[in-house]
Amino acid sequence: MFPTYSLVVPIYNEENSLPELYRRLSAVMAQLGEVELILVNDGSRDRSLQMLRELNEKDPRVCYISLARNFGHQIAVTAGLNFVRGQAIVVLDADLQDPPELIPSLIEKWQEGYQVVYAQRTRRRQEGWLKRLPAYLFYRLLRRLADIEIPTDTGDFCLMDRKVVDALNTMPERNRYIRGLRSWVGWRQTSIRFERDPRFAGEVKYTFSKSMALAINALVSFSIVPLRMATFIGLLAAAVAILMAILVLYWRIVAPTSPITGFASILIAIFFLGAVQLVSIGILGEYIGRIYEEVKGRPLYLLSEVGGFAQSPSVDRD
Ligand code: UDP
Ligand code: MG
Repeated sequence: MFPTYSLVVPIYNEENSLPELYRRLSAVMAQLGEVELILVNDGSRDRSLQMLRELNEKDPRVCYISLARNFGHQIAVTAGLNFVRGQAIVVLDADLQDPPELIPSLIEKWQEGYQVVYAQRTRRRQEGWLKRLPAYLFYRLLRRLADIEIPTDTGDFCLMDRKVVDALNTMPERNRYIRGLRSWVGWRQTSIRFERDPRFAGEVKYTFSKSMALAINALVSFSIVPLRMATFIGLLAAAVAILMAILVLYWRIVAPTSPITGFASILIAIFFLGAVQLVSIGILGEYIGRIYEEVKGRPLYLLSEVGGFAQSPSVDRD
């Protein structure tokens, strides 16, 4: 009836990777037995959706859902997870940076009794230092600040047990950092290590600003340390101010030839405190903005088309 394994792949303008992705995935799927492949079209503007329809017609194991517009990678994966029917669920990228041939090793760990098996990259081949250095720093910062342990250098490539996915599906938050949520659930987690291949074809879909947004999201969703930082800096500034006051009084009374002259020192103090205040307000804004987003309670995504799920009501093709 229901498959044992579900593979979820988010797709955004991947027409050039899709044929090769399908070829390599079907080689792996042949070894797995009962398996479904859920392709999530995240508002692609190229021929991706058309290709998903064709794959679905050709191969009954292929199901697809199509989001009404580009909602972003994390939401696309979330949508896919809402539809999976398998007992073990694997999430991987469409660009073949996450090698499908690793799936059997993930499954082996699952069969040993782990509920989450994530793939940790030991090396990223052919990704420029402009991507690698910020990523390296970000993962270390996140590990220091986050209130749960989020493993470093892991992407979304992982296997999750049914009950982990059920737990994720009950989490209503919109600013989703799936790697964090996946760690948050607990149970037994383990990793396997791999070298990340270069993108098979096409452009990187994570622009610098999208990566930044994801990083800020991760920090804000899993840590309140940035909020506390304002308090600490404030206390520090207060201490400095008191020291300065004592010093100025001392100069006035004991040594009237005060060494403080001119605007410079005053200007520096004003600019410094102004900057600290603005940054603090900005940090506060990140949190408040997210509260606002959550409170609006809009659905996480809208669908325009669903295909291949025998049990689900078929939505009309436009
Ligand atoms: N992706 C998506 N929506 C987006 C951006 C990316 O579904 O808005 C998909 C993309 O098709 C790919 C995966 O997310 O399957 C990872 O994207 P990419 O390879 O560009 O990111 P990176 O490998 O640099 O993290
Ligand atoms: Mg990629």
